[in-house]
Amino acid sequence: MTDLRYIEDVVTLRFDAEKCTGCQLCTMVCPHGVFVMDGNRAKLADRGACMECGACQRNCAFDAISVESGTGCAAAIIASWFNGGKVECGTGGTGGSGSSTGACC
Ligand code: SF4
Ligand code: SF4
Repeated sequence: MTDLRYIEDVVTLRFDAEKCTGCQLCTMVCPHGVFVMDGNRAKLADRGACMECGACQRNCAFDAISVESGTGCAAAIIASWFNGGKVECGTGGTGGSGSSTGACC
């Protein structure tokens, strides 16, 4: 999975190191190893590998991460993994929360 990448510098992921408490959750939930620990804080190891799934933002209780999840086809791919459906974009799906098609929007 690590060879799937967005176009570099398009990803909406933002990280505020000042807010990071070093809880490590983002390093555990990211399926692409985008975050690694650097001493007592996380740091971005490979921002371009982010697929905008939103897992890191959802799990960061300190508002150190923001990402516009579901803005690209990555959302459809991930939804299809969970739902076993076909990867589709723009068909009115629910981004994996109830969609049986794997559609992202
Ligand atoms: S989840 Fe948030 S607070 Fe925890 S290590 Fe990651 S960025 Fe820092
Ligand atoms: S949005 Fe998903 S892929 Fe991107 S850094 Fe967060 S957990 Fe990793």
